[in-house]
Amino acid sequence: MSMKKVEGNQPLLPGSTIGILGGGQLGKMIILEGKKMGYRFVTLDPAEDCPGSQVADRHIVADYDDLEAARLLAETSDLITYEFENVDDAVVKILEEDAFLPQGGELLRTTRHRLREKRALEEAGVPVAPYRRVQSREELLSGSQALGFPCVLKTATGGYDGKGQWVFPSKAEVEAFTELEPGREYVLEQWVSFAKEISVIAARSIRGEVAVFPPAWNIHFQQILHQSIVPAPVKSGILHHAEELARQVAEGLNVRGLIAVEMFLLHDGSLWVNELAPRPHNSGHYTLDACAVSQFEQQIRALSGLPLGSPRLLTPAVMVNILGEDVDRLRGQIRDFPPEIKVHWYGKRESRPGRKMGHLTVLGESTEEAMATVDRLGWNKSADNEKRS
Ligand code: AMP
Repeated sequence: MSMKKVEGNQPLLPGSTIGILGGGQLGKMIILEGKKMGYRFVTLDPAEDCPGSQVADRHIVADYDDLEAARLLAETSDLITYEFENVDDAVVKILEEDAFLPQGGELLRTTRHRLREKRALEEAGVPVAPYRRVQSREELLSGSQALGFPCVLKTATGGYDGKGQWVFPSKAEVEAFTELEPGREYVLEQWVSFAKEISVIAARSIRGEVAVFPPAWNIHFQQILHQSIVPAPVKSGILHHAEELARQVAEGLNVRGLIAVEMFLLHDGSLWVNELAPRPHNSGHYTLDACAVSQFEQQIRALSGLPLGSPRLLTPAVMVNILGEDVDRLRGQIRDFPPEIKVHWYGKRESRPGRKMGHLTVLGESTEEAMATVDRLGWNKSADNEKRS
């Protein structure tokens, strides 16, 4: 089997084949953007008719931990990337040894484990919420006493969209807690009374160049991202600081490709990093319609060794996720949508409540105007109006 590497400083040119582990909506959007640039794509996903397979040149139907399938992906691709971070260790090893995986395995190992991620952030000089490692009931009791209440317990691995998390308002709830699994690692965090949640996506190329997209203000509903509003309506000094933190993360963690940096903005203006994702991020979908290059194009540029594109914001925008329960509203409205709404539909066969089926990008002369369009069409689920002021 041949080792495929980008030779010297030679970029991987259009016409080459990019392999993607995962064929969900992120994979599909990477492909749609990469095809414009002239790349070919192979996807690997257990579902035959996944969003990615609908646009890929070739699709391998296999489980993510199928080593033979990983070898096939390695053989057929000049460069490999992934759309999720829980990549099996043995698969990472094959992809690193037999193929060109410019993002490497190290960042995956760091970002899929909350404790390792926090330590790496601290080493990079990036502030995080006060936390304790917890493995036993005693550590949970002493940790919560030290951090104060409320506090939140998270499994170190495997949680997403609020799953694997428990909030303790007081000591009584800690004492009554029975779900701690022996031998499992957890992170206990101080509960942050934040003013806003924001995220910043940075790209760092294999040549070491860094570009940072404008920060988005993220509103969650029932623990799933609901809206991303850009530019985030905060003081310019805070925007600048958020961009600098994302740059610091990209450089400090030796990122190649994209890193999505989720942050809490505190009432005193400080920023604490909550979570990282080493891939395109839902809160960066607005870049498809509102920036000079999208996060997906930027990822391909970063990994193939082409110069990074401009992350410049061309227009204010609000991204709204379309979940399974929103599909009927979309169907009822789409014929009459105003011209400043762009509809992205992922092409998933099955719709379920909470499943991300597509998204809207609502453009406007200002974020206020775009937010008003979202409100007028009934897409704003956030009952807490304070969160939108
Ligand atoms: P996570 O899985 O860590 O991204 O957490 C999901 C969501 O829970 C975040 O986007 C926040 O809205 C909330 N959350 C998580 N950790 C904290 C915390 N320490 N303080 C306040 N809210 C939190």
